[in-house]
Amino acid sequence: MDHTSNPNGLVQGRVLILDDDPDVGRIFAIVAKQIGMEAEAVTSSDEFFTKLAAWCPTHIVLDLIMPDMDGVQVIQRLAELDSDAALCLTSGAGPRVLKAARQSAIEHGFCTPQILLKPVSLEQIEAFLRDPIAGPKTRPNRVANGKVQILGHDIQRGMQEKEFFLFYQPVITCPKRKLKGFEALIRWQHPVHGLVMPDSFIGVAESTGLIHDLTNQVVAMSLKWLGSSPVLHRKTLSINVSAKSLDDKEFPDRLGAAARSAGISPSDVILEVTETAAASDELLALDLFTRLRVKGFKVSIDDFGIGTSSLSLLARLPFSEIKVDRSFAMASQESEEARAIIRSTVDLSRNLNLDVVTEGVENKATLDYLDVVGCDFAQGYYIARPMTGEQAIDWATTSPYAN
Ligand code: C2E
Ligand code: CA
Ligand code: CA
Repeated sequence: MDHTSNPNGLVQGRVLILDDDPDVGRIFAIVAKQIGMEAEAVTSSDEFFTKLAAWCPTHIVLDLIMPDMDGVQVIQRLAELDSDAALCLTSGAGPRVLKAARQSAIEHGFCTPQILLKPVSLEQIEAFLRDPIAGPKTRPNRVANGKVQILGHDIQRGMQEKEFFLFYQPVITCPKRKLKGFEALIRWQHPVHGLVMPDSFIGVAESTGLIHDLTNQVVAMSLKWLGSSPVLHRKTLSINVSAKSLDDKEFPDRLGAAARSAGISPSDVILEVTETAAASDELLALDLFTRLRVKGFKVSIDDFGIGTSSLSLLARLPFSEIKVDRSFAMASQESEEARAIIRSTVDLSRNLNLDVVTEGVENKATLDYLDVVGCDFAQGYYIARPMTGEQAIDWATTSPYAN
């Protein structure tokens, strides 16, 4: 994308506006031209896609409600066409609809679509046009999949070279706010790409059959770490387990052996499996989780609330913990719906006699809210970011949350 600000405050770039109200298009175009951009406003989706192909805009402004094709359909088409323009959605339909449309855009790969409730002010228009983070350069999955290009044999090499390591993020109790344990989060120190995040390679490891070896490394490294310092004694360790591990029949025995040799009690180890993974093959999940529970390990349903599974899954599978997806805590300040989901998940877990963790806690108000609704545990940037094993041990000794 070639929209950049130069020293006299002008912005280079091309903005394409689709709104069936020509006045709205005109206002956007005037603001864009004032700050040095080229601008075109169109009133139908046909014109929009013709112009898109010919002109490759750097910014797109989209009215959600159009007579011929609604904004969500336009977003789908844009994603299919692999548009990497910065996106701004506008509508008079109310904040809930706009937020839903933004979510849809995010799921189609637009990282930070802006939303503007009509009537839109000139300042808001200018802010969107000038804001460089609105663009797809910040679309992490795209950067990862498009540029980093992780291949299976690279993961294999990385495993041999011991390039994978773990960060640990604390989980604290509510309302006492004392350290309960840590979640292990994998990272890859890649010789060419630098630090690579799990979302960029876990999928590749799964599809190339390397995930079992990777999980083994994670299990070995994290259990060794947990056993390495007295401050971690009786702290819990949460390990993420991929959906693909459900059909790894050896997993419970290997985990049992690894815990024994590290001197860790299985009751301090929590395996986190996503809701979607557990739902994808319930019988496999039932067998695996039961075997893990029989050995004394705990099992947590991760990313709860964003999957499509039915509530009866929770009753049928032997979970010990529910982990509320981070998106709810992150939205809880402005969204009553997100708060309602946290509240009802806490109630649900009470009734099913499960522990409940809310992750994605980014501020004090959210943590205070978890006390009010009676959530057991909290995790998030407000408490601490994921950190190296050494830093985490230090944190467990010196932070205000240390026991
Ligand atoms: P997850 O299991 O849901 O892990 C939580 C993610 O949320 C982590 O991202 C963590 O850094 C991030 N996070 C924690 N607190 C906050 C917060 O307050 N705000 C925000 N915005 N984010 C927060 P990370 O480390 O990038 O991991 C992404 C995902 O990769 C994990 O999601 C998990 O599904 C997967 N993953 C990580 N490590 C492993 C692993 O060892 N094995 C497998 N199979 N998957 C892993
Ligand atoms: Ca997790
Ligand atoms: Ca999660």
